[in-house]
Amino acid sequence: MLKKKGLFISLLTGLFCFFQFHSFSQTSKKLKTIIVDAGHGGTDAGATGQYENSLRSKEKDVTLAISKKLVAELKKQLPDLTIVPTRTTDIYQNPREKADIANQAHGDLFICIHADSGPLKTARRQIGTHEVTRYHISYKGKGRKKRKISTPYQVTEPVYEYYKLPLSIKGTTVYIFAAHKTSDKLKAIMKDVGDFDIETSSDSAYNSFNFDTPEGRVLAQVYAKRYQEKSDRLATFVNDEIEKTDRPALGVNQRQKGIWVLQATNMPAILVETGYINNYDDERYLNSDKGQQELAEAITKAVIHYKQQLESPKSGK
Ligand SMILES: [Zn+2]
Repeated sequence: MLKKKGLFISLLTGLFCFFQFHSFSQTSKKLKTIIVDAGHGGTDAGATGQYENSLRSKEKDVTLAISKKLVAELKKQLPDLTIVPTRTTDIYQNPREKADIANQAHGDLFICIHADSGPLKTARRQIGTHEVTRYHISYKGKGRKKRKISTPYQVTEPVYEYYKLPLSIKGTTVYIFAAHKTSDKLKAIMKDVGDFDIETSSDSAYNSFNFDTPEGRVLAQVYAKRYQEKSDRLATFVNDEIEKTDRPALGVNQRQKGIWVLQATNMPAILVETGYINNYDDERYLNSDKGQQELAEAITKAVIHYKQQLESPKSGK
């Protein structure tokens, strides 16, 4: 047991040196390709505006409009980079297709654009009255002669109309995937290691690295952790930029599951829930040119900040 532990520690130490070396070589890494994913599409409408006086807008349309503006803004502000949208029209893609586009483009960042929703409360209001006939029941006589007598009478009752209340919550939330051992993200890294940065490394030890071994798996976790840190960094920058706008920045959240596309992409990835489609203000904001542009600019500023930090010689990672 102890021996094994010692072996494991020396293994970790070795990996740590590896990681340090690799980390160092990675400081020169530049941000070259960004994937922008307009969430949902085609037969998958995503969330829709359902409250009373809603615009009845569909998440898939809002995400496409914001994504198009984001792609344009990124191209404008970062002309040397390659910006790859997963879709530019109203087509259906399953998460695997979206992840494949990102992985095949060798993206350095994956940004998913979505809109939030939540369960809506139903309310009622009186829209009039109607007359209803009711019966008063009485009995006459006794024993075998007992008879039931129904006496009709009229009552006025209210007539109600039911409607959905808009959500009171509004604002932008950023999600990242939280790495854990058996995730698809790890599997993606382990399977597709050739696509990772180390493909340019001439280090022979690296080239012989086997991800089926325990040490390989530890390294894979190091990679996953690295993605998580970078994802978290970008997510935090996006949240910071939203804070500078007039709308609430609801923070950065980690999800262990439920965002398959974030787990399956072999790069740092964030998912931006741009706003609540079932909030009155947010729905209008998400559908407006001004709102879409403000979101596109906020995310672009965050990407520029991220790029500067990534490419800074002082940056540890
Ligand atoms: Zn969505």
